[in-house]
Amino acid sequence: MRDPEFTLSAGPTAASPGVLAALGSPITYHYDPAFLECFRRTERKVAQILQTANDVVLMQGEAVLGLEAAARGLVSPGSKVLNLVSGIFGKGMGYWLRDFGADVHEIEVAYNDAVDPAEVERFLAGHPGIEVVAVVHSETPSGTYNPVDAIGKIAHAHGALTLVDCVSSVGGMPFKADEWELDICVLGPQKCLGGPPGMSLISVSDDAWKRIRANPAAPRSSFLSLLDWKEQWLEGEKFPYTPSVSDVHGVEAACDELLEEGIDASIRRHELAARATRAGIRAMGIELWPRSEEISAACVTAVAVPDGLTDLQVRAHVRERYGVMISGGQGAGNLVRLGHMGLTASGMYPVVGLAALGRSLADLGAQVEIGAGIEAALEVLAAEAAPVA
Ligand SMILES: *Cc1c(COP(=O)(O)O)cnc(C)c1O
Repeated sequence: MRDPEFTLSAGPTAASPGVLAALGSPITYHYDPAFLECFRRTERKVAQILQTANDVVLMQGEAVLGLEAAARGLVSPGSKVLNLVSGIFGKGMGYWLRDFGADVHEIEVAYNDAVDPAEVERFLAGHPGIEVVAVVHSETPSGTYNPVDAIGKIAHAHGALTLVDCVSSVGGMPFKADEWELDICVLGPQKCLGGPPGMSLISVSDDAWKRIRANPAAPRSSFLSLLDWKEQWLEGEKFPYTPSVSDVHGVEAACDELLEEGIDASIRRHELAARATRAGIRAMGIELWPRSEEISAACVTAVAVPDGLTDLQVRAHVRERYGVMISGGQGAGNLVRLGHMGLTASGMYPVVGLAALGRSLADLGAQVEIGAGIEAALEVLAAEAAPVA
């Protein structure tokens, strides 16, 4: 099959020419002084983007690796953990935590909803001794987000450490690791940063390091070990294993582009793309998947698939007929998703996504006001359009 003309997925997303060029940088020895500098610079840039003074660890492996490493590092058999579930990734974290022997409590809401911080407060007040709270910021498969700003502070006030999956939110939504008092944050470069898939970008607080060091079950001498990175690289300048040289160059370029644009400007751009898309979907007479717009994520817009159709059918049609790749719900429900990540959270991309999805739904027999949707999206975009640099 031909390559897609547009990739409007929920990540990996289209990378910029600058990121693609950086991925093609010479592959050097990992202890070459130039690469060592690049690696350290990239750590600092990731820290800036996560807005933290904590250590940053760059692990070689898609963000799921970082999430598993963090979970394994923090818990041991019997650890009391509160896992917040509002979608597929939160649910998956619970399976891991149980697998590692933790005593897992869960607050679970419907996969089109978000966790209420007041519930978290109530739960922690009623269950003293919870050691870790795990939460997903942007629950990408369902296009929703949890108020991690409030949850981080509540967890901290109750003496619990936080493990935050911010894989898809950072760069597209406000995220402040230190101000929100978060302990371990795991970011993926292939979402709003517009970088390559293949690395986990992780910040770790001093309290989290203390807990991991004291945890006999924390992986050591393992590909999953955060501690190896702390002791061997951050403290000893020796890599526990060879970094993915090309990916590091790609991630640095993606960080550079984000920092050059400015974090706030990038967030505004993602929010605008998402707002335009939501307006378009509503005006087409289709339903958004999230319960309300207030809990809708800016990095992806989840759209309920009309009755009688399936996400698989719709996505296949959009891709085959119109050359546009969009995402499904990964099991969160009968929904499709239009990504607004990095490059695709700009210009006319939202209109392309709406046109391809709207026309496909109509082709498949759904009642869709395509023109009204496009007009509504353009209305939102035009109100804030800036001259193209
Ligand atoms: C993308 C993503 C991950 C990484 O998972 P993959 O399915 O391997 O891409 C983890 N958490 C969230 C919230 C994500 O969006």
